[in-house]
Amino acid sequence: MEKIIIIRYCEIHLKGKNRGYFEKVFMINLERALAGIRHEIRRPSGRYVVENFDESRTEEIVSKLSKVFGVHTLSIGLKVKTDLDVIYNTVKQIAPQTGTFKVETNRADKTFPLNSMELNAEIGGRLLADYPALKVDVHNPQKVLYIDLRENGSTLIFSDMIKGAGGMPVGTAGKGTLLLSGGIDSPVAGYMIAKRGMQIEGLHFHSYPYTNMQAREKVEELARILAGYTGGMTLHIVSVTHIQEQIHKNCPAEMMVTLLRRFMMRIAEKISENTGSQCIITGESLGQVASQTIEGMTSSNAVIQNLPVLRPLVGFDKTEIIEIARKIGTFETSVLPYEDCCTVFLPKHPVIKPDLKKVEEAESKLDVEALILEALSGEEIVKL
Ligand code: ATP
Ligand code: MG
Repeated sequence: MEKIIIIRYCEIHLKGKNRGYFEKVFMINLERALAGIRHEIRRPSGRYVVENFDESRTEEIVSKLSKVFGVHTLSIGLKVKTDLDVIYNTVKQIAPQTGTFKVETNRADKTFPLNSMELNAEIGGRLLADYPALKVDVHNPQKVLYIDLRENGSTLIFSDMIKGAGGMPVGTAGKGTLLLSGGIDSPVAGYMIAKRGMQIEGLHFHSYPYTNMQAREKVEELARILAGYTGGMTLHIVSVTHIQEQIHKNCPAEMMVTLLRRFMMRIAEKISENTGSQCIITGESLGQVASQTIEGMTSSNAVIQNLPVLRPLVGFDKTEIIEIARKIGTFETSVLPYEDCCTVFLPKHPVIKPDLKKVEEAESKLDVEALILEALSGEEIVKL
């Protein structure tokens, strides 16, 4: 008897002609999640089965697999020889002794003497005889005991389903640049887009020495957590210290955040051109703070030449975002109290509905191109 893990996938089967491609990427992502752990992944029809792994690491393997986008559910099961008594003894090990149950057989091995219905009845009958407090309920059982008779003379037996991350395999929906601050929202935004299959590169702006090294480490940690879902991540780190100083010196104080956002967007587009990213992703949510009005978004979108800006959280409440942040494990890190560059030179009364003409006029006091080139020249790249 050998432990196995069964992986069922999500929407991949919907993808018609592209199915082969989706499955190939999914397999690569599963393999990547288990890199460094002994295992084999096989593909009997319609599902993936992990075998030959170190059973003492089962929990760790399940935890890693459950984060791979595209995984719908997982089950830990047992693989045994296809033999009626062996099957029964194994089912008995995982069966409850009270409450309701049903047996569900899938028979790929058509040579087995009992058909699915007959095997359900046989195993169910033996359980009822051994455990008198047990009852069958075919409509709403407390426990379903699955028996999967494979063609190769082996049978898989399992019961509980563990929920996976859902979504689509990362790498099947292009690539995007995520503006990753140290806050609660942007990691969630990245998670949501990655969940739809997009590969994510992070871009973080700091204003060292106004912001400290811990702020940077915090962002690296957030990127590392996201990388657990995406199978690795590249983080670009760019200083906007000089840009902020120039805005502070030459432009109206209340425009700091508005103007800084436009620089961030321009730099993000430049970096995207170099990395092949096809969009920019932010954690903005409509009306959440002064800079996240539709006018604020208009002002920052206006400097983007070619790429769409995705704002997956635009219609979310803060409480909804926090709920996801907790679920994906970024919340605790996000609330560590280190300053973000947006809080440096923060005016008492930032403009809430920036007028594009006035923004452009204020910005005309700056050598925008030179400031961007200078910022890009100091770009650092961290692989996580
Ligand atoms: P978050 O929780 O993501 O920090 P927030 O509610 O603090 O968001 P803002 O500070 O207005 O909102 O930032 C809006 C968006 O701009 C962020 O979600 C992020 O995508 C981007 N952003 C802000 N600061 C930075 C930064 N230092 N580096 C990279 N992107 C940033
Ligand atoms: Mg923030």
